[in-house]
Amino acid sequence: MAELMSINYQSVLDRVFEQAKNTEMLGEVASYIPELAHVDPQKLGIHLITTNNEHFHAGDAGEKFSIQSISKVLSLTLAFKALGDRLWQRVGIEPSGTAFNSLVQLEYEQGIPRNPFLNAGAIVICDVLVSQFDNPKDEILRLCCELSGNPEVSINETVAKSELDSSFRNCSLANFMKSFGNIENDIATVLDVYFYLCAIEMTCKEMAQTFMFLAENGVNPLSKKTVVTSSEAKRLNAILQLCGFYDEAGEFSFKVGLPGKSGVGGGIIAIHPQKYSVAVWSPKLNKKGNSYLGMKMLESLTTISQSSIF
Ligand code: GLU
Repeated sequence: MAELMSINYQSVLDRVFEQAKNTEMLGEVASYIPELAHVDPQKLGIHLITTNNEHFHAGDAGEKFSIQSISKVLSLTLAFKALGDRLWQRVGIEPSGTAFNSLVQLEYEQGIPRNPFLNAGAIVICDVLVSQFDNPKDEILRLCCELSGNPEVSINETVAKSELDSSFRNCSLANFMKSFGNIENDIATVLDVYFYLCAIEMTCKEMAQTFMFLAENGVNPLSKKTVVTSSEAKRLNAILQLCGFYDEAGEFSFKVGLPGKSGVGGGIIAIHPQKYSVAVWSPKLNKKGNSYLGMKMLESLTTISQSSIF
């Protein structure tokens, strides 16, 4: 029935935000990357953009934060465009059921990560970008600026350095995959791109805008340029749906019912193809590494507006 009525997204977002503010904030801010622990845990924001280019927001939606793994959707987009289906020889498209930084599955599966959003998978994607581009960092940042509409999107050098200084697991993953022949380039070079990717900062508004191309069949609504084909957009959304929440992808599908991707900075992006893109931010993470209140806000959003993809 909600399909037939036009949805007043601002009043939905106001309700979602009020509910979240009145919910006990469980979880912990990520601290295994020390610089991430400095964020104010009370931050709470949401920004939604419809395919009619209407913007709605509440709370701290205009404040920058570390988008962390959410940027892995952009590196995947670049690698998929560059290699097409050959990419899937290097990385899978299946949910992992393991933690984002887990090593165990890699041994069984001969150094081929289950999907591009696990740390291991994202490191392979960075290796692809190092092979494909003279300056992969510039390519990543150029895509962020173009899609977000803000030519000044940047990375936080202190976060990138903090990632490097605490990169014991990511180094292990990269070395382990290199031993199976699934990393072509120098490990330090590949990880440098990976830490850069993770240290991108955006606001909820910029993040919602950046991922609008996935709600628009692959077209950037700001420039009207094709970012990926509609078939590629379909595949990217499918990977978000199945792999975007570490070992909690089922829970997110079950409760929210949208393709999405989270990051340990407490952000989440979710896409309703042909309808909207929505970004939320709340830094405290649940045990699986996903934003506790971010998940709750998106659950309320799709429940109140009756607008999940299922
Ligand atoms: N930079 C983080 C790491 O490598 C990204 C994790 C995430 O957001 O999932 O552990």
